Amino acid sequence: MAQERTLSIIKPDAVAKNAVGDIISRFEKAGLQVVACKMVSLSQEKAEGFYAEHSERPFFKDLVSFMTSGPVVVQVLEGDNAIARNRELMGATDPKKAEAGTIRADFASSIDANAVHGSDAPESAQREVAYFFSDEEICPRG
Ligand code: GDP
Ligand code: MG
Repeated sequence: MAQERTLSIIKPDAVAKNAVGDIISRFEKAGLQVVACKMVSLSQEKAEGFYAEHSERPFFKDLVSFMTSGPVVVQVLEGDNAIARNRELMGATDPKKAEAGTIRADFASSIDANAVHGSDAPESAQREVAYFFSDEEICPRG
């Protein structure tokens, strides 16, 4: 299987619930390695740029407002099939539809406050990793 990198964001609701450690622990237990990690408070501009693909959607304003409501933890996860693996661990966008045992089923409270973000494809992963991290900030562990 391909070694991949994906971008994960622990969103403001999960940070506010003190769930950062629990969530990162799930990635590590699933064999994904954290190769970069930082806590940031997103500006409106940074959040809008990150979610630019959704700019025409009716929920865009709410999404940007939520993502700037408190600090987030942004990480690069590395491992076999990391993009799909992370999406499996996250569960469905709407926590009501997320499978039991997934991060969103356990930590999300609504479709907007849904605990985590994960890249959905190799192209978006590459863009999203570069949106938050320079090459020097990523520490491959071999
Ligand atoms: P994801 O890849 O599973 O995070 O889902 P999407 O890329 O489709 O949407 C990005 C984010 O926008 C989601 O994680 C939600 O926080 C938010 N979102 C998506 N759909 C809706 C919706 O119908 N209503 C609201 N309020 N937020 C939504
Ligand atoms: Mg998405």
